[in-house]
Amino acid sequence: MTEEKVKPFKVEEPLRIARLDPTFKGEIMEEPNAELIKYCFQCGTCTGSCIATRFENNFNPRRIIKAALLGLKELVLSSDVLWICTLCYQCSERCPQGVKISEFMEVLRHLAVKYGYIHPSLRLQAEAILRSGRVYEDEDTANVMREDVSLPPALSVDMDEVSKILNRTGISNILLREEGDR
Ligand code: SF4
Repeated sequence: MTEEKVKPFKVEEPLRIARLDPTFKGEIMEEPNAELIKYCFQCGTCTGSCIATRFENNFNPRRIIKAALLGLKELVLSSDVLWICTLCYQCSERCPQGVKISEFMEVLRHLAVKYGYIHPSLRLQAEAILRSGRVYEDEDTANVMREDVSLPPALSVDMDEVSKILNRTGISNILLREEGDR
């Protein structure tokens, strides 16, 4: 994550029907384990157990589940807070309803990427790989650092192979799309 402040995750009230997508819940529930969010009764145990909330109080799993169930697709998928979860599974262990919250967060991240909402820090990394096959493009600096710790120079990158992988996985296309496009 970047040093920038995380934007608050806030459900605007009163809710406007036009902002709700009634198909969003179904789209989430098609994914393995994510269907269990229908059992959430909003007790907040997940948020109370969450390690990440100790460092970033804009992250609140209970609120994200509520917004997803309401159909606030754009708010949920475009939010920075999706990328804060460390997937530690504390919430899933403690949920009295057996909701697999960590899996749900992963599903939301997949959907966010599918719709072009990629966190800027991850987009930068993916674009660097697209250009050079590496997350860190400055190979000379990287090699100096490697030498300092007695590692051999970095292996050369076969960009044809990298391009094939990025094309076949669809990542090249996703990076070219505008936010919110599918
Ligand atoms: Fe919902 Fe489970 Fe979180 Fe309680 S702990 S708010 S039931 S997901």
